[in-house]
Amino acid sequence: MSFLIAIVGRPNVGKSRLFNRLSQTGDAIVHDFEGVTRDRQYADGKWYDNRYTVIDTGGFVPEAEEPMLRQMRNQAQLAMDEADLIVFLLDGRDGILPADREIAQMLRQATKPVLFAVNKIDSPVNPERHIGEFYELGTELYPISAEHGHGVAQLMDEVCSHI
Ligand code: GDP
Ligand code: MG
Repeated sequence: MSFLIAIVGRPNVGKSRLFNRLSQTGDAIVHDFEGVTRDRQYADGKWYDNRYTVIDTGGFVPEAEEPMLRQMRNQAQLAMDEADLIVFLLDGRDGILPADREIAQMLRQATKPVLFAVNKIDSPVNPERHIGEFYELGTELYPISAEHGHGVAQLMDEVCSHI
């Protein structure tokens, strides 16, 4: 197993889409509704000469007894224990929701790098303009479009600087 990158975040922010983009196996199932990714998925990928394994923490199971927030906390904890680097994914269309604040708070305890990426910034023009409210989280931000690929290079260059 190579350098482990975990993608964490609320359901439907685009984790599986990003996982799919970062892995080269095409194994991830990406659907237009929440909760499709039942389990953690692992896939190998590479960015230029840097090899890594990416984890889609997926995880949210709608019919499970545990509430969503508890499942997300577990996923974040697992990522902090297991991964070498965490990509915390936010939804640029939703803005910051309470669950995001909670996970952000947890990730402050992480002893590994945590990169905050704001997804669904589909316009390649001046992406920073669309993520203003997220700066209150007090960290550097990476605007991306997992769907179209914008910003992913900047994010991955930073990821790879830690490999
Ligand atoms: P997950 O629950 O976090 O794994 O989210 P998914 O990857 O399943 O994506 C949830 C929804 O967001 C799907 O309808 C995706 O097509 C959509 N989505 C993901 N990334 C983007 C993006 O960059 N832009 C837009 N517009 N939609 C996206
Ligand atoms: Mg998913």
